[in-house]
Amino acid sequence: MKKIILVLFVFVVFISSCDLNKSNEVRNPKNIILLIGDGMGVTQIYAAMSISEKPLALENFKVLGYHKTYSANNYVTDSGAGGTALATGNKTNNGHISVDSSGKSFKTILEYAEDFQLSTGLVSTSAITHATPASFIAHDTSRYNYENIAMDFLNVDIDLFIGGGKKHFVEREDKLNLLDSLRNKHYTIIDSVENFNSELEGKFAVFTAYGHNPEMSNGRGDMLPLSTKKAIKALDKNDKGFFLMVEGSQIDWGGHDNDIDYVTSELIDFDNAVAEALAFAEMDGETLVIVTADHETGGLTLTDGNVNKKEIKAEFSTDHHSGVMVPVFAYGPGADRFAGIYQNTDVFNKMMQAFGFEK
Ligand code: MG
Ligand code: ZN
Repeated sequence: MKKIILVLFVFVVFISSCDLNKSNEVRNPKNIILLIGDGMGVTQIYAAMSISEKPLALENFKVLGYHKTYSANNYVTDSGAGGTALATGNKTNNGHISVDSSGKSFKTILEYAEDFQLSTGLVSTSAITHATPASFIAHDTSRYNYENIAMDFLNVDIDLFIGGGKKHFVEREDKLNLLDSLRNKHYTIIDSVENFNSELEGKFAVFTAYGHNPEMSNGRGDMLPLSTKKAIKALDKNDKGFFLMVEGSQIDWGGHDNDIDYVTSELIDFDNAVAEALAFAEMDGETLVIVTADHETGGLTLTDGNVNKKEIKAEFSTDHHSGVMVPVFAYGPGADRFAGIYQNTDVFNKMMQAFGFEK
């Protein structure tokens, strides 16, 4: 009898160690890079894929999911409520930035990362105070309170941000110069991503435009992929890891304009930023890369096309956002969590689990 129990015991240990090996595949990442294509639905991606000269970096992902985008008060979300869901794990009313309907703050993944002594960064092709990046660092009942949102950058010890929107830091109703305030908090202020030396230690505010950055077709160049590359280099100095959010803001604006060339040029640029994140993650082995959207814009469909001629016939059904699910792509340790269909708020929950952060 004792022998049988011993054999059973050994067997059970063997089986559970097999389970352990399996669960080891869901390792925790040291770093998370979250890339958000604002307004990027499946059709926007396939439109760019159809006309691109080379395969998209997005085609390399093996773990795919979808999230449901509706907000607390509307089937069709805006970028404030959409950003809040991704950044805090809470659905809120359209127009709100990481607060509930009474104005109470929700803590963001970036703020958690700061608490756990990780390095943090935000990169955007819009003003850095615009709804999507704002959702990760600011708290306001209106996404349009840009001056308050700029002020919120001083309340969090974010290590680096790169984007437009300098105007909301210097041309203010309260006459404050927030660049001075940032300098007092030991930020180096830089006026272009080319002039940003990511080898240096320190905290950086990189203002790439006074308002929004120009669109791709109007000379933005490689601002987004270069910013992504440099942000990773700067943040990777922390042994505890980093959280970086990168936004391709203007895929959404192409959708609002019902301008397919605007959509695809912005999407291909965003995909180049995804390629930078993936290249680092492949080399590093400890980085989880997540690519998703806050919502789809334009109700875009493709009614005809030619893959050889790289032509598409695009039709938009609205100049606003639509209510459809949007895709999620994940690579790296913890990526498997992102397969399936779930709520936009679960993107936050899954990132928290991946980092091993307790609320
Ligand atoms: Mg946005
Ligand atoms: Zn929009």
